[in-house]
Amino acid sequence: MRSFECNIITIFPEMFSSPFKEGIIKRAIEKGIVEIHICDLRDFTHDKHRITDDYPYGGGAGMIMIPGPLKEAIEKINEKTQSKVILMTPQGERLTQSKVRDLSLLERVTIICGRYEGVDERIRLYFVDEEISIGDYILSGGEIPAMVLVDAMVRLIPGVLGDEDSVKEDSFSSDLLEYPQYTRPEIFHGYRVPEVLLSGNHEKIRKWRRMESLKRTLERRPDLLEKAKLSHDDRIILEEIKRTKT
Ligand code: SAH
Repeated sequence: MRSFECNIITIFPEMFSSPFKEGIIKRAIEKGIVEIHICDLRDFTHDKHRITDDYPYGGGAGMIMIPGPLKEAIEKINEKTQSKVILMTPQGERLTQSKVRDLSLLERVTIICGRYEGVDERIRLYFVDEEISIGDYILSGGEIPAMVLVDAMVRLIPGVLGDEDSVKEDSFSSDLLEYPQYTRPEIFHGYRVPEVLLSGNHEKIRKWRRMESLKRTLERRPDLLEKAKLSHDDRIILEEIKRTKT
């Protein structure tokens, strides 16, 4: 079985005390498929006050994370085997499911959580392999972005989810949004589950789901359709959906 090791460099290690102790990530750790090590950046400082930030050269608001402790932390983690070093930053490549898939194929990653106004540029230039953003907005630190990335990666590691098929059907995994899902009861407040889902006809159900998936993507995220891998049948269905809409 493949294993996945994730190291997280942070000045707030306590923030990680609960998110990885529930649900799928907790089980993945217990099964020994995933290891998550939280590295307290302050352990790599050498002054009495364990300082990790300083004023920006050239002036301006806010503080910058000093490079020394970050470099030492990365080197310690990479002492025996190299890991891919990822900096969480709003200036990075915007995270997508396909990027998550690529990163989840690695064996070891190290994630740097920025704070204040971010890290000294020399860390970004000379010690970081990838820069990832979780979206076009600014958070106060890289810890929550790191949790987002770890959660998304871990569920793709083989053996983590009980049912591998559920990953394949997820929104974005085939560049489409997922079809609508229903569970019991069959009639809820007078609203019925679509008849086809109760039919037991797997081929009919598959077709219905594919059509709903295409419909939903066309309505909500037409940008995804431009790069989606669509079959000949998909294109015919799409044309049909567009025709009936107008
Ligand atoms: N002044 C910086 C933003 C600093 S926000 C700039 O304009 O680029 C502080 C830290 O929070 C960042 O170093 C980063 O690690 C994290 N962060 C904030 N928003 C983020 C986002 N959208 N994606 C990933 N990391 C983010």
